Amino acid sequence: MTGKAKPKKHTAKEIAAKVDAATTNRGGGKAGLADRSGVEKGGHAKYECPHCKVTAPDVKSMQIHHDARHPKIPFEEDKIVNLHAVRAPEPSKPRPGVRGSLKK
Ligand SMILES: [Zn+2]
Repeated sequence: MTGKAKPKKHTAKEIAAKVDAATTNRGGGKAGLADRSGVEKGGHAKYECPHCKVTAPDVKSMQIHHDARHPKIPFEEDKIVNLHAVRAPEPSKPRPGVRGSLKK
């Protein structure tokens, strides 16, 4: 034990609250209800953080998450994983280009 625990700039609770506020749709009305029930979104958040796999319903929320959690990594919209665009390939089909090196 070094006894030198660094004080954290942001507490986990703080960040969680921030992320929660950013990713939870608290809006009322029909649009909010549809959004919350996930009817139109396949029941899951649309975007996934490429760095820690946290999900968010939109790019703006993801950017807020990114700024909170990965401040040293530049935010790049292109790198966000769009879960609705990336469909799981059919398991019966061989996946091209994932073999990697077969060298021994
Ligand atoms: Zn992240």
